[in-house]
Amino acid sequence: MKISLIIPCYNEEESLPPLYEALKEVTGSMPNYDFEMIFVDDGSKDRTLPILKELAEADERITYISFSRNFGKEAAMYAGFCNVSGDYAAVMDADMQHPPSLIPEMVKILETGEYDSVAARRTTRKGESKIRSFFSRCFYKLMGKISDANMKQGATDFRLMRREMVDAIVSMSENNRFSKGIFGWVGFKTYWLPYENVERVAGKTKWSFFGLLKYSTDGIMSFSTTPLKIASWSGLFFTFCSIALLIFVFIRAALYGDPVAGWPSTICIILFIGGVQLFSLGIMGQYISKMYVEVKNRPHYIVSQTNKKDIVRK
Ligand code: UDP
Ligand code: MG
Repeated sequence: MKISLIIPCYNEEESLPPLYEALKEVTGSMPNYDFEMIFVDDGSKDRTLPILKELAEADERITYISFSRNFGKEAAMYAGFCNVSGDYAAVMDADMQHPPSLIPEMVKILETGEYDSVAARRTTRKGESKIRSFFSRCFYKLMGKISDANMKQGATDFRLMRREMVDAIVSMSENNRFSKGIFGWVGFKTYWLPYENVERVAGKTKWSFFGLLKYSTDGIMSFSTTPLKIASWSGLFFTFCSIALLIFVFIRAALYGDPVAGWPSTICIILFIGGVQLFSLGIMGQYISKMYVEVKNRPHYIVSQTNKKDIVRK
């Protein structure tokens, strides 16, 4: 049995040494398994790549794939998935927020044969601001309602899965990738393994609040067309309202004449309807822009350096 570990790294020079030590220990404690570690350097600007090269020199289980620029974590994970050779594959962050010590337990659960994947779920959000936790809880609730991505509250990208699931994920070659949704969409039986949130060993998070906001709206658009439905339903609603209002005004004018009044309310209504129209148009525009990117069919990532000979480029 071979297990592939996929680790996206972006400016992780400080986290890599402790991570590698931890991985060495964990893999050493599982002598019945072969391991492969795929580090994907997502266009780091610090010493991440030289460190990876050094590690790969010393440990032949290590593959590094270095991108020509920063393509984002989703692209880095996809590059990893496209290049796994193991029977099982796991994705994990480089900052040790996904504790390597969970791997043996995850493997044990897969070995029972009852599940196709084991996903880590944070039970606490220690070290995260209250507002951020609140918004992210709302996001999971909303996603559960409007999409079939089947996401769990506190789900992380830390997952171990069987080869079949990896192949399914690779077959989803969309450019707008939202892994949390993809993992859920492909189905398969998932065991949710709870764990306590840990703070990163070194360095800083790459996520700003607005970065997360964009990530979540992208996620919704990738897995749900509900916003489009909202736009058309609100259009229908206002059409009915205006017809009702028209009839009312008509009858009132017939009965009581038509004194000129109501300028402020007219302006309010015009502004309101104008707003709704632009909003709906905006939603449509968002979907069209996604289609535009998708249709161009550009590569997900561009590899500039690697130590693997037959690398898969997608
Ligand atoms: N990452 C990446 N490309 C990016 C941003 C992040 O490969 O453009 C990697 C990063 O090196 C880390 C993981 O994705 O291994 C998670 O990033 P981070 O810890 O910043 O996110 P958080 O844990 O705060 O959600
Ligand atoms: Mg992190």
